[in-house]
Amino acid sequence: MRIETKCVQEGYRPENGQPRILPIYQSTTYKFDSAEHLGKLFDLEVEGHMYTRISNPTVEMVEKKIASLEGGVGAMCTSSGQAANLLAILNICSAGQNFVCASAIYGGTINLYAFTLKKLGIEARFVTQEMTDAQIHQQFDENTRLVFGETVANPALEVCDIERFARIAHSHNVPLIIDNTFPTPILCRPFEFGCDIVTHSTTKYMDGHASVVGGCIIDSGNFDWAAAGKYPELTEPDESYHGIVYTEKFGKAAYITKARTQLMRDFGSTPQPMAMFLLNLGLETLALRMERHCRNAEKVAAYLEKHEKVEWVNYPGLPSSSQYALAQKYLPNGVCGVISFGVRGGREAAMKFMDALRLAQIVVHVADARTSILHPASTTHRQLTDEQLLAAGIGPEMVRMSIGIENVEDILEDIEQAFNKL
Ligand SMILES: *Cc1c(COP(=O)(O)O)cnc(C)c1O
Repeated sequence: MRIETKCVQEGYRPENGQPRILPIYQSTTYKFDSAEHLGKLFDLEVEGHMYTRISNPTVEMVEKKIASLEGGVGAMCTSSGQAANLLAILNICSAGQNFVCASAIYGGTINLYAFTLKKLGIEARFVTQEMTDAQIHQQFDENTRLVFGETVANPALEVCDIERFARIAHSHNVPLIIDNTFPTPILCRPFEFGCDIVTHSTTKYMDGHASVVGGCIIDSGNFDWAAAGKYPELTEPDESYHGIVYTEKFGKAAYITKARTQLMRDFGSTPQPMAMFLLNLGLETLALRMERHCRNAEKVAAYLEKHEKVEWVNYPGLPSSSQYALAQKYLPNGVCGVISFGVRGGREAAMKFMDALRLAQIVVHVADARTSILHPASTTHRQLTDEQLLAAGIGPEMVRMSIGIENVEDILEDIEQAFNKL
């Protein structure tokens, strides 16, 4: 199946006489014929569901679809994108250890990694793409466990040079984890460029209708934990699971199995079956929507670039963008629907422009069907220091516009009338 077909057909495959549409298994528990069978489930001797905190049939079928879209061996959905990015790190990183992290990433992830993980004794070492390989290599030591980046950074829209980060990570025998929220697997599949683990906030384009918060971790199965020789949590007996060795028992799916049986069991950031049903509806139209988001955004970006009330436009799909070459390599079919730009006149003009929009609404969201707008410096990135704001590429004049799937002429007219009021 090609990816557009997978969006519609993968995951749930009904048998004769079963419901055509993914059923919502709204049940916390499962029934067993024998105590012995349940015991075997707990020992991971047999496959199956025992308790919805750990797994559920509705959730599992959506996980299968997402794993297939990304080209991975397994996936685990979470209650939010934040939970996905937290568990992806905690699965292989503990107190006293560190990881190397691109600084152009989502503000919420920066808060999580720079402040909250620090309190847990885990250090994020931030690097920029402008740094030389040698400067990035200098950040590694024997306690470095992974490298983290974002395919297209929200909201800086920096395109990650995935192959470069993969090469650097692998030279230190650590995996590369990429948050692929903005492009979705429709526009970029990081595993094809050497990335080992992908995360998502499914809240964005995957759901696409701003109806349900969720996240996902996908394992490529490509990283050789045993050969790396520094991940005892995967290659040595797990005390909390009567001595299971994940790499021996689950092979290529060692990482994602541990994430579920250990971390989801303990942290319980479980997605609800109803939420996964809604996510699945979104996934069915993902390929169609991404195409429209990209074509609309390309037109809006070109229009903004010529506008006298616009100081600068940041959209990696614009040939004038500093990110254009990277975008052509990693995102040849389109980048995403998100554009950021500077309104001439700074913070005040940016706020005025936003208030004057009629079709585009001010919301703390991005990447759904409706065109929306946000001022990152005063909202999503409010907690960051000026230095961190600068590193994340966010100035006071910057607005982030998420171009929806409406008729692009209506979006352009709305922007024009708002500029006319400045
Ligand atoms: C929104 C977002 C997150 C956080 O996801 P939630 O679903 O809001 O918890 C993480 N990464 C990126 C790139 C995001 O855009």
